[in-house]
Amino acid sequence: MFKKILGTAVVFGLASSAAFAGECDISVEATASMAYSTKEININKTCKEVNLTLKNAGNMPKAAMGHNLVISKKADMQAVLTDGNAAGLSKNFVKENDARVIAYTNVLGGGESATIKFKTDKLNNKDAFAFFCSFPGHSAVMNGVVKFN
Ligand code: ZN
Repeated sequence: MFKKILGTAVVFGLASSAAFAGECDISVEATASMAYSTKEININKTCKEVNLTLKNAGNMPKAAMGHNLVISKKADMQAVLTDGNAAGLSKNFVKENDARVIAYTNVLGGGESATIKFKTDKLNNKDAFAFFCSFPGHSAVMNGVVKFN
């Protein structure tokens, strides 16, 4: 018992200067009704890297109803989508080496999930950042904001 309390105290002691283990792990689901499980992704500014997991909770193949998750500045979203659309499904609807894209997952079919790791050095708390699905036609409903603070 004493050992457990001591362990907790140590964890809290570290928390003041660094994020909790797990705090930099983010999970988002794409639902069967073509929506994300959240409209807001909050990233703690102490996270140098984020593990982002996307799960497609639907059951349709990716060519019909695939979903990904792309993060960019809100101001870049439309251009990223236009170029992604041209790139096609084989490129996960993201233009290759698109410098405007901060992070993206592959397009996932129903029941699939993927975890990506990305650095947060392109994020800040001044610009507006967005996450969205770049599968053609989805971003109008599949989008949200990314907050880094
Ligand atoms: Zn989608």
